[in-house]
Amino acid sequence: MIIEAENISKLYGSDENKVIALDRVNLKIAPGDFISIMGPSGSGKSTLLHILSGLDRPTTGGLFYDGKEIYSFGDRELSAFRRRKIGFVFQQFQLLPVLTAKENIMMPLLLDRKQPEEAYLAQLTELLGISDRLTHLPHELSGGQQQRVAIARALIAEPDIVFADEPTGNLDSKSGGEVMELLKSIRGKLGKTLVLITHDHRIAAMADRQFSIEDGILSEVTAR
Ligand code: ADP
Ligand code: MG
Repeated sequence: MIIEAENISKLYGSDENKVIALDRVNLKIAPGDFISIMGPSGSGKSTLLHILSGLDRPTTGGLFYDGKEIYSFGDRELSAFRRRKIGFVFQQFQLLPVLTAKENIMMPLLLDRKQPEEAYLAQLTELLGISDRLTHLPHELSGGQQQRVAIARALIAEPDIVFADEPTGNLDSKSGGEVMELLKSIRGKLGKTLVLITHDHRIAAMADRQFSIEDGILSEVTAR
């Protein structure tokens, strides 16, 4: 899947409260790309990731998945498209507290009334080292384990691309390092496109293409 952001801007508020969160962003993501985006707090990183992943409409500009403008879809069609094609990993995990790890992982499939493929679930949870934690509730898991459950949820519908917004931001350096290694190895083993926001230079440097964002202006750091 080729993703193209064309001249995307996002404005919040009006008049003296106006904030230009994104300023005419252009970006082309090819299948299998590993992209990192770094930038100071408030520079527009989350806004960009939300727009690229279909979570938030741009004010102006277009977002194309294989040539289709996904914000021309109706809300239901867009939600379904997101569930099937796009995985998203949040800094705060965003697991539902009353559901077990397995139920959280299955959520995207259940919303589509799809049956889980037990073999794929087993492969995924094995890879992520959470096979023996599937009946636990989120509060019974460590931060690193919760994020690994969230990664499994992002992958269960076999999306082509995974977006991660500071996935190690709420973890200590050891479990953060483990989560990064897992994201990298999953990308290699399952052949996913990965777009990652980070504050950490070392993590950013793992990517094939590095970007920085400042005041909503995106620029590529790596030579093309
Ligand atoms: P980052 O993730 O890089 O910290 P964000 O994308 O969250 O930055 O925010 C970029 C800018 O847009 C910030 O100035 C922020 O205050 C503003 N912003 C983000 N979301 C909203 C919103 N819902 N309403 C108003 N301003 C917002
Ligand atoms: Mg953010």
